[in-house]
Amino acid sequence: MDELLKDISEIKGVGPKAKRELNNRGFFRIRDLLHYFPIRYEIRKDIKPVSEFLPGEIGWVKGIVSKVKMSFTRYRRMAIVTVYFHDGKKYGKALFFNQKYLLRAFKKGGWVLFYGESKAPDEESIVFTMTPSKFEVFPHEPKESVVPVYGRVGSLTSKKIQRIIKSIFDSFKIEENIPEDVLRKYDFPSREKALHLIHFPELEKIPSLELSEVKRLIFEEFFFFQLSLAFFRKREKEREKKRKLKSFDVFGEIEKSENIKLTKSQKQAINEIIEDFKSKTPMKRLLQGDVGSGKTFVALTSALFMLKNGYQVAFMAPTEILASQHFSRICKMKAFSGIEKALLLGSSSASQKKKIYKNLESGKIKFVIGTHALFQEKVKYKNLAYVIVDEQHRFGVAQRTALSLKGENVDILVMTATPIPRSLYLTIYSDLKVSVLREFPFGEKRIKTFIVKEKDRKRLFDWIFEKTSSGKQGFIVYPLIEESEKMELKDLETAYETLKKAYPDLKIGILHGKMKPKEKEEIRKKFENKEIMLLITTSIIEVGIDIKDALFIVIEHPERYGLSQLHQMRGRVGRREEGYCFLIENRGIGEEAKKRIEIIKNVNDGFKIAEEDLKMRGSGDPLGKQQWGDIVFKIADPVRDIELLEIAKDEAYEILEKGRISDKIERYFNYLENLRKEVDFN
Ligand code: ADP
Ligand code: MG
Repeated sequence: MDELLKDISEIKGVGPKAKRELNNRGFFRIRDLLHYFPIRYEIRKDIKPVSEFLPGEIGWVKGIVSKVKMSFTRYRRMAIVTVYFHDGKKYGKALFFNQKYLLRAFKKGGWVLFYGESKAPDEESIVFTMTPSKFEVFPHEPKESVVPVYGRVGSLTSKKIQRIIKSIFDSFKIEENIPEDVLRKYDFPSREKALHLIHFPELEKIPSLELSEVKRLIFEEFFFFQLSLAFFRKREKEREKKRKLKSFDVFGEIEKSENIKLTKSQKQAINEIIEDFKSKTPMKRLLQGDVGSGKTFVALTSALFMLKNGYQVAFMAPTEILASQHFSRICKMKAFSGIEKALLLGSSSASQKKKIYKNLESGKIKFVIGTHALFQEKVKYKNLAYVIVDEQHRFGVAQRTALSLKGENVDILVMTATPIPRSLYLTIYSDLKVSVLREFPFGEKRIKTFIVKEKDRKRLFDWIFEKTSSGKQGFIVYPLIEESEKMELKDLETAYETLKKAYPDLKIGILHGKMKPKEKEEIRKKFENKEIMLLITTSIIEVGIDIKDALFIVIEHPERYGLSQLHQMRGRVGRREEGYCFLIENRGIGEEAKKRIEIIKNVNDGFKIAEEDLKMRGSGDPLGKQQWGDIVFKIADPVRDIELLEIAKDEAYEILEKGRISDKIERYFNYLENLRKEVDFN
């Protein structure tokens, strides 16, 4: 067996707690960790000794620890750990606030390396004082180096992850997984060599797109993706759908039930889907439409068609909040009143789950709405025929695979509000069909977007207060970055407290990913019932909220988002009347970010924005995680790396066609096939 397919608990340094945390985030096999790449590299150059690090400098400074002490501030008794360090000539002083545990991190006589800004000295013998933002201790004098920075995984810090990866390299064999002749043909280095460079870079060789090691890893990612697509496609062709479907006037039923008229685009999309239902090959269709274009009715109308024919339908949303929202909406729809429905979430109680499992297997439940929980191993369906995936952009390849393995020849509809250029999709999934909603049910959607200067913040908040007092709702969105989750959460809470103080009558609530599902649901309901008028929240988890009266959205740090994401977020408002989006300006941001913000301000059409997005890509950071619709790669970017994608596709097809499947690839397929048994999506 391939050593890298062993369980992560076999790695030295991964105990039960770490295992649990890793499992919770989708890491099961050693391989998963080995392919968890740094988000960036920290370059430690120009390291100065204490006596050369002048007040006012920002950078790296090294020295030997002479004393470590802890004191407390007079008020609130905040702990301060002070580290005195020297280079034999002069002393420096580093302060750490509220980090008591650091008292033990520094040893007298040991070396330290700090990064930060040096401030004026406060004692005679001391040349500077600093509060370092980065530090590391060394048994020997630190040298210039480059250090990988990993995104946090639960409580596992970048340093801890680095140690785990080191331990993998020390004790496991990294076998080659690409055929030798393919490697030779493109001059790619071995898997071990490539992975080693990514995880243990050298100053003279910092991973970048030009390096063959990086190219190889990108190729590898595309190669296996294409292989699995080709493999499943081949198998699908061997099987045919044998469903007998009768026709029903589902259009009329939905229109009557909801007292609406479906738009021409919606009708066309529904017809296309029903045509696919009737065809012999399983459907894989992408439904694209800007936020508010009415994708949900397309999904529900087509679902109704399948349900009326007696088949089961599963509707998967990316978050529990969205799933609950869809569920409560469906429960209110007359068209579905005679149909047995259920909501299945990861957080559902064990007894609830058991009951739903039973009723799905017996076929009593026809329409199930939920999250990834819908496709766990324990879930068995009687006659699942149609799977709808909403806002798929947060699902990865593994989930997609698990999903297609679930039912017998299921038809799959993937909905996305992030328009993906057709050419790109065709390159990646050559057999995917696309329906597009180009009209809006209420005519052109109107959102006014403003860039707000810091000095106008007060005016903006007064405006918000006025609007929320007169029944309008809105959001303030803070970015959440994995690397420093805690700090960002603090931002969120501080904003909440500050606003509460400034506007005591403001009905304000807070919602973020760290909250328990129950708390989240409570907040969502309160917002829906207008007990909360202003919601302070984060971008990643809660974007899908659908509130008809939301009038405005304030986006803090807009420079941190991509174009599509910004567009997606502002689409949450202005459903009933003209909406407002406020982007808080930050000085000192890069040219690219400025350009993005300008585009968002001036362009309202999601498809145009997608094109702009595509144009602006290409140069990007090689390790930046790129997402296109449901295509989530770790290191590859199908736009930037289109050439590697093409060759990976050719090689994958050739291998499959010629039946040249080696043992290892065979094992990889077995691995994929077993995924549903292994992947615990919660
Ligand atoms: P999307 O998921 O594409 O962002 P939704 O399906 O949530 O959009 O639809 C946006 C809003 O428009 C919803 O409130 C929905 O009820 C409403 N809607 C959708 N289609 C129609 C229609 N044909 N007529 C009237 N209202 C519609
Ligand atoms: Mg939607």
